[in-house]
Amino acid sequence: MSSRKSDTAGVDSLPLQPVEAIKGVGPRLARLLKAKGLVTVEDLLFNLPLGYLDQRGGIPVSKLRPGDYVSFVATVLGAREVQYRRRKIYEVTLSDGTGVVTAKWFHYGRWLIQRFQRVKSTLRVSGTLRVFAGQLEIHHPEIEEEEVVTEENGGGIVPRYSPIPGVAPRTYRRIMQEVVESFVPQVVETLPDAVRQYFKLLDLRSALRQVHFPTEFPEVSKTQKLSSGLRRLIFEELFFLELLIIRSREDLARETGHPMVLDRDFLGRVGKLLPFSLTKAQKRVMREIAADLGQKRPMNRLIQGDVGCGKTIVALLTALIVISNGFQAAVMAPTEILAHQHFVNLKPFAEPLGVELVLLTSKLKSKEKLTSTKAIASGEASLIIGTHALIQKHVTFKRLGLVIIDEQHRFGVLQRLALRHKGGSPHVLVMTATPIPRTLAMTVYGDLDVSIIDELPPGRTPVETQVIHAKQRKKVYELLRQEFTRGRQAYIIYPLVEESEKSDLKDVTSMKEHLQKEIFPDIPMAILHGRMAGEEKQKIMTAFAREKIQLLVATTVIEVGIDVPNATVMVIEHPERFGLSQLHQLRGRVGRSSHYSYCLLIHEGLGLETRQRLAIMEQSNDGFRIAEEDLRIRGPGDLIGVQQAGFIDLKLANLVRDADTLAAARQAALTLMKKDPKLTKPAHGAIKEKIHRQSLQAAELLKTS
Ligand code: ADP
Ligand code: MG
Repeated sequence: MSSRKSDTAGVDSLPLQPVEAIKGVGPRLARLLKAKGLVTVEDLLFNLPLGYLDQRGGIPVSKLRPGDYVSFVATVLGAREVQYRRRKIYEVTLSDGTGVVTAKWFHYGRWLIQRFQRVKSTLRVSGTLRVFAGQLEIHHPEIEEEEVVTEENGGGIVPRYSPIPGVAPRTYRRIMQEVVESFVPQVVETLPDAVRQYFKLLDLRSALRQVHFPTEFPEVSKTQKLSSGLRRLIFEELFFLELLIIRSREDLARETGHPMVLDRDFLGRVGKLLPFSLTKAQKRVMREIAADLGQKRPMNRLIQGDVGCGKTIVALLTALIVISNGFQAAVMAPTEILAHQHFVNLKPFAEPLGVELVLLTSKLKSKEKLTSTKAIASGEASLIIGTHALIQKHVTFKRLGLVIIDEQHRFGVLQRLALRHKGGSPHVLVMTATPIPRTLAMTVYGDLDVSIIDELPPGRTPVETQVIHAKQRKKVYELLRQEFTRGRQAYIIYPLVEESEKSDLKDVTSMKEHLQKEIFPDIPMAILHGRMAGEEKQKIMTAFAREKIQLLVATTVIEVGIDVPNATVMVIEHPERFGLSQLHQLRGRVGRSSHYSYCLLIHEGLGLETRQRLAIMEQSNDGFRIAEEDLRIRGPGDLIGVQQAGFIDLKLANLVRDADTLAAARQAALTLMKKDPKLTKPAHGAIKEKIHRQSLQAAELLKTS
């Protein structure tokens, strides 16, 4: 969220002045900073460096290896012209404190001499290192003057920030120096002393100073321990997340919602409409849900189940219970395609039962939107399917009794809370296929009760997965041909680094053209990507679902939730660019019926590690196992869906890497809520303020999203 307001709180624990308050920041710079979402001094303080440049030389001279092309930073001890027989050589003695290197120029002009007369600071020197008579030498090196490095700004370690268009890195660093110098002293500590001592955390001011201008070179490797400054800031972020989760659970416990009764008659009629009988796991989860719905306290339940296990039907049944009690049920899906798919799939149930179903997404025509919002407000619509559009301010419900959030990992905690706040304490059901390691589930879903669907519908065979070299593309085409002949459908997926990247779209487009012209001229196919207009996407998805299109060449827009049971082949190009969990999600688009299905991962050569990683896809169809293997092999990296997809609103922490810190933060938050639930103690004043500010932000989100 970059739309943080600077004028929302009076006294605060952090400097909320606009960036113009910083010495040296005029209107022009301020504009450039704001364009990057850096509006307040606080924004700058929490815009942490991506890394650091070690301008002490990176590698000390004593560690440099002769024969290598090296680059180091050193100061000039002396420079002179030396006469060697008939030849003049210019020699400069350089040192970084750990060793001495002599730079030699055998040809040079006056400019070189003048340059060394001017040099006052350190130099970056690059060239091939040699040994001559036991001494290190470097001939005709490249030299560059380094920024003036002083003790105060970290003794030669300078922060490297994400680039800001129009602002030179050097300028930004100067601004940050000023910010740290003038504003960090105003920062008020948020964590009580007892917590800081117990968890051995730096104070907030020192942490901020250290993160921006460290005195020691922080390790860059992911597996390395974090610097104590960063750890402190991460702890803080997780502590407030946990407070939010714990408090919202407690708020919920105090809320009275709408107890629902089961109308057996109605459910009997629903049962007759189902084309299959529920699996044991689905039945168990339905019982858990029915029990929740009967309570005065609103339900707040998460259904976790691997791709294809049949969560949608559980959602529908839950919605129908609520609707038969005279309430509205809203389903929020992360993408338009998915919302539309739910709409189409649920229609055959809604119509015969006399349930009024509407769709609301931001891409609808404004007339359609108006019709939908009216029906929602009047209570005429009882089953509402939509996207983020549902949490917009102007959408009001008549009698909202249930909120269902599909593919929870695509939404943040705040969005979930926002929809809940749309109506007097509705029941909440969230559904996810994201395989979050069990050890983490508690801490990130701490405010939810969890149900697990651990069984696939009968007749499913695991998807046969193969990692294939592009040289054997012909085999892939043969398999596709075989399946097309059987009347089945297929996907070919290309990775997209960013939806806006034209070159990636070219891949999709040119691949489709190639396939259509050269390989499958008789097969109806289409492309699908995120930059297409909503209507066009819908048309293509509908045509695919109706089997009018047999091959879909797409980007990852189809990753989440798409359900076309007749599709049996999933081809993924450049699988190395995906996380395993994401590959598992994509693979989950096939194998959704009793037809034997395939997932083919086409690469153009892989390193050993990547090969091993992808081999897991060949061996396992279990989302949990895949996520855990991913972790084990890659080390703490990003679990797709946990972080990348904005699963919760974290800027600094990585839930996997920082699992220990998360546990500690949760413990601290629980203790605090037990000791001082209303946060009335003076020592907790700063916490109270920050929470207040977070809730203002949430309100802001409700207004603007
Ligand atoms: P997900 O859990 O990934 O959201 P879906 O709800 O989309 O999965 O279900 C996947 C497919 O399985 C759908 O085509 C659905 O109709 C079918 N399905 C769900 N439950 C059953 C069942 N009990 N028996 C047979 N098929 C089922
Ligand atoms: Mg689903």
